[in-house]
Amino acid sequence: MTITVSFVNLIDSFQHCQFAFMSPELKKQFASLNSDNHLTGQALDLLKIHYGFTSFRPGQEQVIHNVLEGKSTVVIMPTGGGKSLCYQLPALVLEGITIVISPLISLMKDQVDSLARVGIPATFVNSSISPAETSKRLEDVTKGIYKLLYIAPERFYSQEFVRALENIKVSLFAIDEAHCISQWGHDFRPSYMKLKSAIEALGNPAVLALTATATPEVKEDIIKQLGLVAPELVITGFARPNLQFAVIQAADSLKPRLVMDAINASNDGSGIVYVSTRNRADNLLEHLLENNVEAVRYHAGMDAEERKIIQDGFMNGKVKVIVATNAFGLGIDKRDIRFVIHYDMPGTVEAYYQEAGRAGRDGKPSFCLMFYNSRDRHLQEFFIKGDNPPPEMVLAVYENLKDYESDTVLITYSDLLASLPGDFEAPEMAVGTSLKILEREGYITRAKEKTGNAFLKISGDYSSVLEAVGARAKTQRELAGKLFDKYRKELGTGWEINFEDLAGILGAKKDSLMRLVRNLEEKNLAEYHPPFRGTEINILKRVEPSEINIDFSFMKDKSRKAYEKLDQIENYAYHFGCRQAFILKYFGDDISEKCGQCDNCLNGFGYVRKMEAPVKSTKKWKYSQDTIKRHGNISELGENLSAKAGIETKLTQLQTFDLYNKGMDIDGMAQTRNLKPATIVDHLCWLLEKKMKVDIDKFVKPAKQKIIKAAIKELGPGKITPIKEKVGDEANWDEIKLVLASYKK
Ligand SMILES: [Zn+2]
Repeated sequence: MTITVSFVNLIDSFQHCQFAFMSPELKKQFASLNSDNHLTGQALDLLKIHYGFTSFRPGQEQVIHNVLEGKSTVVIMPTGGGKSLCYQLPALVLEGITIVISPLISLMKDQVDSLARVGIPATFVNSSISPAETSKRLEDVTKGIYKLLYIAPERFYSQEFVRALENIKVSLFAIDEAHCISQWGHDFRPSYMKLKSAIEALGNPAVLALTATATPEVKEDIIKQLGLVAPELVITGFARPNLQFAVIQAADSLKPRLVMDAINASNDGSGIVYVSTRNRADNLLEHLLENNVEAVRYHAGMDAEERKIIQDGFMNGKVKVIVATNAFGLGIDKRDIRFVIHYDMPGTVEAYYQEAGRAGRDGKPSFCLMFYNSRDRHLQEFFIKGDNPPPEMVLAVYENLKDYESDTVLITYSDLLASLPGDFEAPEMAVGTSLKILEREGYITRAKEKTGNAFLKISGDYSSVLEAVGARAKTQRELAGKLFDKYRKELGTGWEINFEDLAGILGAKKDSLMRLVRNLEEKNLAEYHPPFRGTEINILKRVEPSEINIDFSFMKDKSRKAYEKLDQIENYAYHFGCRQAFILKYFGDDISEKCGQCDNCLNGFGYVRKMEAPVKSTKKWKYSQDTIKRHGNISELGENLSAKAGIETKLTQLQTFDLYNKGMDIDGMAQTRNLKPATIVDHLCWLLEKKMKVDIDKFVKPAKQKIIKAAIKELGPGKITPIKEKVGDEANWDEIKLVLASYKK
């Protein structure tokens, strides 16, 4: 039997069709490796001969070896590292079935179809499949027709489903995106909590937990939550040597121009610009289109069909730039993404690295920029507040629902928020989270979100409507014509209708219809009430506040950790050592070297110089000769960026530091930089805390320092006001700040 497809292709694209199911001899040979520790050489030979595959990627053979020996293993491997091979290859060899847990329901069918095309019998079960079809598929699994079964984790809420699986011999239980089990991960999914009992119910098969993003803490949590006892660990390098990282401090008004510069600096390939809100996506898209950039946008508010069209267009290279919220990217494997720009600071280093890591999967030089300004933190705090309502709010929501006599309550989040007693400074999103918590703890259930009908009445006649629309708006005129043809009577009296349906009946896009209605509304020709959006809530239990059993200490912990993570990503923005090294350290890889090509490495403020008097750098951010030698011919992106935009990529504090090193005093620095003296003092304090060599004797007389230090010793370094009160007029605020900063370091 000749098999010509390489495994690289199989893993990466599933596009090739000549792969046939493993022959019995091959199985035997492979199985023999199971009892043999010399997997390395033999497996390689085997794969070369039969698959034309030249080598495993780092970590893969170790994982496969463990799995074939029945050892549970936790795998942390960067995206694009070939995680799926780690269970697909053993699945072909092992007796029984390999269950694959995946949260990506929308991708399951594609995955299974691709496997089928290459001759690997696989199937899936998720909420898109009818109960009858589910039973049929499980029956076929029992008969041994399939080698892989993909399951959405939510399935395990059903006891019936778990029982149905008990009759099946499961040889391997693979969990994709395993970080979703950890509340400390950035993408927690409660349904993952069911997996531990599912594994027990299945007779404790070998478990393979795979993830691309796990800090040491999350890794421990995965092991604990899955109930694994001393599992093997395979962690492969997170370094991405072809990625160039940089952070640019930029005011919002400057950001669109910086994006344009980055796009112009990257001649080939495509890029992603991540923005924090839908609104920002719209605004940036408009700017790009005005500047003749082929760009599209993507966010969760668009309907599934539109999202798919846009995603396909980007995947096959028809559009160059996609402006997206974090809804874009899971399961996307486009190899030639040349840049990823974070228009706003994301909430965690995990999210940042996962998104930025979508650049340069083909191994070619690519860049990852993050724009930052100190206001970015506020938006992230808003998200954290929405995700972590205070315990009092959760209780108030519950009490409020209990006031309804009926056990079924139909209410919008904003109405619910408005009706809460007291003044919760929480976003509407926090109401949704409160309900989620109450649901998880069994006090309520929620039906699917309901969208009712909108109300529409048009007060003008057809001709006045046409006049309002204008002679040039062809589409809108046509649409108005169709609307009046079909609904002249209803329009006059006003009626309730679902706008999706109405658009369908008129053969128009819902967006166009909405534009027409908004237009007429502005001109007082139409009356429009948006449809009700809310949730049907069913109250399951009515108990007194004192009897409520919710782990609030856990919730507080979760909120605290979210803020800690936010601090970390902010530290990344302010970091002045190697950025790649910062990220690797965050993920528990402490021995990493400097990358030599991030903005900080090139600016000469890397770790090596940290403890010495830093050398003033006149270098703009650009590739060093070394980097060019290592990577061959690459465009000088950095130089382009800073030259074209005329921006300084260096932190503002470090610019002050340059002036300090020239021997300037505080007022001199303030004048030169056009900043307030107090700001310069803040910069100096920051530099002191970062252990940079700043001699405060130049700014505060030693005698004064003595007085201030005595006060600090007595009162502690925590609060500045009592210290000021203690020293009185002996020293001013700036002097105290400086001494405090040098004291803290
Ligand atoms: Zn670096």
